Amino acid sequence: MLSTRGLSVRYGRSVHALSDVDLEVQADGVLAVLGGNGAGKSTLLRAVSGTLPLHRGAVSAGEIEFDGTRIDKLDPALIVRAGVVAVPEGRQVFARMTVEENLRAGGLGARSAEVRTAARERIRTLFPVLDERSGQRAGLLSGGEQQMLAIGRALMSGPKLLLLDEPSLGLAPQMVGRIARIIREIHSQGTAVVLVEQNATMALQVADHAVVLEVGRVALSGPAAELAASDDVQRLYLGGHAESQEQAEAEQHEALDHRAGKTLSRWTG
Ligand code: ATP
Repeated sequence: MLSTRGLSVRYGRSVHALSDVDLEVQADGVLAVLGGNGAGKSTLLRAVSGTLPLHRGAVSAGEIEFDGTRIDKLDPALIVRAGVVAVPEGRQVFARMTVEENLRAGGLGARSAEVRTAARERIRTLFPVLDERSGQRAGLLSGGEQQMLAIGRALMSGPKLLLLDEPSLGLAPQMVGRIARIIREIHSQGTAVVLVEQNATMALQVADHAVVLEVGRVALSGPAAELAASDDVQRLYLGGHAESQEQAEAEQHEALDHRAGKTLSRWTG
């Protein structure tokens, strides 16, 4: 569904944020993009969503194809129309608008009124809490609820591919688990997902494939379970401190429920 070939991105003249990145997302897939600070994860999402110029960045080489069409020279609004919608880092909801108004704003990018109506119904099922709070100002929601609203708003245009930038950032472990379940649900309803995360444990449970970026280049890529078992990923992203190890164990139990049949014993190394 989505592929990048030899994708390179620069900010200004001197910052080479991505170099020669090849990746693919299948129509029924979830791709996790992992990497440390400054690895180029957000830049990748900006390139796909066409928002690099807002950050003084540009694609300097390569191409991005979505659903058989090149999108790397398209306007962001046309990319949304094509079915690619991004949820940027930092739960950027319209704080002074109500929950319902935020969702309506998301629906402006929908291809038709039917798509919008179906999306609104889908959001009711995915996020019952947003219905309970529909008249409340978005700025008064908890961090987790704001993340749900940001995802719900993106879903309002009925995307085929959802780009999520660090949805777990700053959330308590329980809420991270909830967001992970929601991403799985969105995927099982037929929307492909690119999930940028520093929380590798969560991302590798949700995703079927993953890439690891290091200083703007793809350092590792492959099936998520294989990457989770690799020594490098274990050491760099899954070893962590006591808290993340505890969280990893809790999420592994949860993953067993959701991904029966997969060999998860390898995750603990
Ligand atoms: P983080 O997890 O910290 O958000 P990241 O993997 O998302 O990191 P990017 O934000 O994509 O990394 O940054 C990749 C590189 O590009 C970094 O060296 C960063 O300093 C640089 N960069 C990002 N945005 C800009 C910008 N607007 N102007 C100049 N350089 C930028």
